[in-house]
Amino acid sequence: MSSRILLVEDEPGLVLTLSDLLAAEGYQVDSAPDGPQGLAKAGSQHFDLIILDVMLPGKNGFEVCRELRQKGSDVAILMLTAKTQVVDRVVGLRLGADDYLAKPFDPAELLARVEALLRRVRKDKLTPVVRFRFGDIEVDFEKAELLKGGTPLSLAGKELQLLHYLIDHRGKVLSREELLQNVWEYQAGISTRTVDVHIAWLRQKIEKNPQAPRHILTVRGSGYRFSP
Ligand code: CA
Repeated sequence: MSSRILLVEDEPGLVLTLSDLLAAEGYQVDSAPDGPQGLAKAGSQHFDLIILDVMLPGKNGFEVCRELRQKGSDVAILMLTAKTQVVDRVVGLRLGADDYLAKPFDPAELLARVEALLRRVRKDKLTPVVRFRFGDIEVDFEKAELLKGGTPLSLAGKELQLLHYLIDHRGKVLSREELLQNVWEYQAGISTRTVDVHIAWLRQKIEKNPQAPRHILTVRGSGYRFSP
């Protein structure tokens, strides 16, 4: 799915140019001509990134940025500042902007910043998986169902939670401590040994050969890593 970008900018010429530029790169672009409308749109629709001009009618970019962060929005924000106002970028970053670009800018530079920010956002927020398929396994975390070669398998609640966490963080090395903290939330009487035991149970159920696992891998000295 293509990323959605909100452009909050009051110069019609620049809105047109940037919208075309971003759309040509495959982004879905929406725009707002002033601070209040920018805030309203950002609050009512999902955007992956906001390109926010500082000098805006109604409410300036700083105010918009601050209000968004105060409302708990963690959308990526790229601020457009005036070249002469060095203080702009300092203030902007302090108010929660992720990056800034001084006007006038090279369109290629803008695209590079947008791409880098979106990449960062995607990496930070690996979307939690609801349904996932790997090998001959199909798992639906919403329905708490797991099929192996089309046959339903029963998994205990903790096994399913552990598998969910492993899949959500696939490719990453996860320490026993991290798993303990996030899957068991440090319940009393639980130790890292519990993690190992549950991993072994999961392997028994989902791996073709639990002695030589293909999906739930041991990373010596570090923990575990899920490989689809
Ligand atoms: Ca402006």
